[in-house]
Amino acid sequence: MRAFFAKAALGTKLKAINLLAVSLVAFFAMLSLGVVLYQRSIADQQRHLDSLTRVMGDNLTAALVFVDAKTAQSTLEGLAQADDIEQAGLYDATGKLFASYSGAGAHQGVAATLNLGQMPRDTGFVKTSIDATSVLRDVGDNTNQIGTLIVRQGLNNTYQQLWQQLAAVFAASLVAFALLNLLLNRLQRHITQPLTDLTATMRKIQQGADLSGRALVGTDDEIGELAKSFNYLMVELQLRDNEKNAARSRFEAVLKAVPDLMFELDREGRYINVWGARADFLMAPARELVGRQVQAQLPRPAANEVLVAMGEADESSNGHSFGRCIMLPLPQGERWFELSVAKYQARSDDDKTYVVLSRDITERRHAEEEIRQLAFYDVLTHLPNRRLLMERLHTALAISTRTQMLGAVLFLDMDRFKTINDTLGHDHGDLLLVEVAKRIQSCVREVDTIARVGGDEFVVVLEQLGTDADQAARNALQVAEKIRVSLAVPYQLNAHERYSSPSIGVCMYLGNGVASEDLIKNADVAMYQAKDDGRNLVRFFDLAMQNAVEARAQIDTDLRHSVQDQQLRLYYQIQVDQQHRPCGAEALVRWFHPQRGMVPPAVFIGIAEESHLILDIGNWVLDAACKQLSLWAGQAHTQALTIAVNVSAQQFKQPQFVDLVTDALARHAVEPTRLKIELTESVILNDVTTIISKMHALKALGVILSLDDFGTGYSSLSYLKRLPLDQIKIDQSFVRDVETDESDAVMIRSIIDLAANFKLNVIAEGVETLEQLNFLKRNGCAEFQGYYFSKPVPIDEFERLLTQPNLNLVPLNHEPLGTAPSPTMAAGSGFNVMPGMKGLAL
Ligand code: C2E
Ligand code: MG
Ligand code: MG
Repeated sequence: MRAFFAKAALGTKLKAINLLAVSLVAFFAMLSLGVVLYQRSIADQQRHLDSLTRVMGDNLTAALVFVDAKTAQSTLEGLAQADDIEQAGLYDATGKLFASYSGAGAHQGVAATLNLGQMPRDTGFVKTSIDATSVLRDVGDNTNQIGTLIVRQGLNNTYQQLWQQLAAVFAASLVAFALLNLLLNRLQRHITQPLTDLTATMRKIQQGADLSGRALVGTDDEIGELAKSFNYLMVELQLRDNEKNAARSRFEAVLKAVPDLMFELDREGRYINVWGARADFLMAPARELVGRQVQAQLPRPAANEVLVAMGEADESSNGHSFGRCIMLPLPQGERWFELSVAKYQARSDDDKTYVVLSRDITERRHAEEEIRQLAFYDVLTHLPNRRLLMERLHTALAISTRTQMLGAVLFLDMDRFKTINDTLGHDHGDLLLVEVAKRIQSCVREVDTIARVGGDEFVVVLEQLGTDADQAARNALQVAEKIRVSLAVPYQLNAHERYSSPSIGVCMYLGNGVASEDLIKNADVAMYQAKDDGRNLVRFFDLAMQNAVEARAQIDTDLRHSVQDQQLRLYYQIQVDQQHRPCGAEALVRWFHPQRGMVPPAVFIGIAEESHLILDIGNWVLDAACKQLSLWAGQAHTQALTIAVNVSAQQFKQPQFVDLVTDALARHAVEPTRLKIELTESVILNDVTTIISKMHALKALGVILSLDDFGTGYSSLSYLKRLPLDQIKIDQSFVRDVETDESDAVMIRSIIDLAANFKLNVIAEGVETLEQLNFLKRNGCAEFQGYYFSKPVPIDEFERLLTQPNLNLVPLNHEPLGTAPSPTMAAGSGFNVMPGMKGLAL
């Protein structure tokens, strides 16, 4: 029922109510009519029976008086004519049944036993029969009762009539009901129809989003009022809608008039709205953008920039971000846009959104670029001008302060430029300058700055040249030379070939100790020095540096001829055992320069290592040492001696190093155990596994391996354990101060202990005094080398040293140091060395 009232249409509900009401009315009307008709029928029937009984009684009085039972009986039989008479009984004054009648429907045998007052009575609510009694009196004496007549009538016919009447009434009611219903329906439509119309109008408005629809106002009742109110509401709504649409149109017209694009993005960078007249600036049609993320739509740098701008708007106190720019590769070319972002939150419970205004600044940017180009770049060569140079130099100095890396400022001036300008004209001069700019660019790295600071003057700022001052100066010189050589190549200026060259001044810098202007001035001064010295030159501002760099460069140049021109010699420094018996020599290279004289290895070995000349030199040393060993092999007093050669890391790293050694030994037929190779710890810093396998290969040949300058490097004990060494050589720096510096003494003792533990032989170098020697001996050092015995000397001097017959082991002014004869020396061969040898001139 509830569901019906919730869902059914209003008309249906009214119909249902009508139906129910009419049915109830009809039912109760029929019921009351039935009851009334019933009662009236019964009463009519009773009256009728009473009068019949009375008439019958009158007729039967005589029969009773005359005791004429027959007549009485036939009279009673006459009741058969009357409807529904079931029984009748005539009783005499004594109450004895005189005559009786039993009609259709009478109970069997009742008549025979019908006694006054004893007839079965109808006791139910609905009677099935009625009785009538007539007391018969004497005609003459009205008071004398002579008998009683009782008649019983069934009610079947009565009921039948009653039902017929009711049926007729019911039929009439049905017709009336139908008519009533029709009438009610028609009436109720006056109520429901306006409502239905109103609903339909509303639905139409809703579906068509058309606010112009109006409800029909047909009545003046509440429904009419409702329709009127609805219409007022619609008018109001329409007005507001029109206003809204007008505002929206104005807003869109404004947006269209603005040449910028406007986007509304959510916090994930998803497009919510896109506005703007310039659809050609969009990466996709606006409707396709909505719902997508900028990350999927824009190139990564541009998308990142948008997100960063949104982040800035988030963090800024006013929720705005300005000035970030993005570049978009559009079909019409690259275009630049400036972003203004505003964080927007309509209500506190709303999600934050971002309104992004994207303004096309391509033209502005080009203009700025042009202005910048004019302000900071040279129009002819497009190189930075002095202004930008100063900016860049400033930054370079700041970086140098932070990294402690040196840099250099190169000042270049083209020699004889004026002549070219004067003879060929300025246009040719310009061509040369453009070519100069290109050539300089090809000589330097991207990070370096090249600027044109005057007519034919250029400045190059070299950055990150290293932390070592000498090395940095050499690097600067290298670049300067490269530029010098490159700029000295002839120039093809249209049909003319011309020569020019630069004079280059170099000023090194470290940090911002010297002002940028001063650096350029200094480099300029150095450039003039280069001009004074004859042009086409590189000159350093710092004289000492200039000299050092020059000397080094000279050494490098000269060293290239040293091997072929046979300027190298080997000097030998003796190595002795505890009894001062010679056990070998260290071969130390000397360079005899035609002009400089003897150059010590400390001056040129480093340079040779840098230029890889050390490989040639090393090969020469190895060969010379093996040659000497083969010569010694033929003499009894020298055949047991070893020669130690120094091998630098670069040499040892050569893949064919072991082969080189094998070849050298074979070439001179040398017993490998006579050759000792001195390696420094820097060798081991390279690929240890390869180094170790190479050392094993050398060991397998029989060559002795010694670790030079031990204690100054970084080799760990684990390396020492893995290296197949025979000897370690205590560095002379520990020996030098052993008597005064306790830590050096401790160091030496530790090294000797360590060597003993690893079963390695120990030799000390740089032994200059008897005290040093005694200390070393006391602590178990096995071999010694140093000025105390001899300086490195040429071979003939060394051999003379060995053959000195009167050389004594015991120094003249010292106690004997040892007496045991050397097992390697032939008796009486006199191969002893004395400290007096210290004075041997080199
Ligand atoms: P080094 O291998 O440690 O050689 C020892 C250096 O100490 C030699 O200097 C030697 O003359 C010097 N010396 C020896 N005894 C004393 C002493 O009692 N007092 C002092 N003050 N010095 C002493 P030199 O000959 O100038 O060699 C220097 C370095 O040059 C060598 O150090 C070695 O590393 C390198 N070198 C020399 N010749 C060669 C070579 O043929 N090849 C390679 N790769 N390096 C070599
Ligand atoms: Mg050495
Ligand atoms: Mg050494």
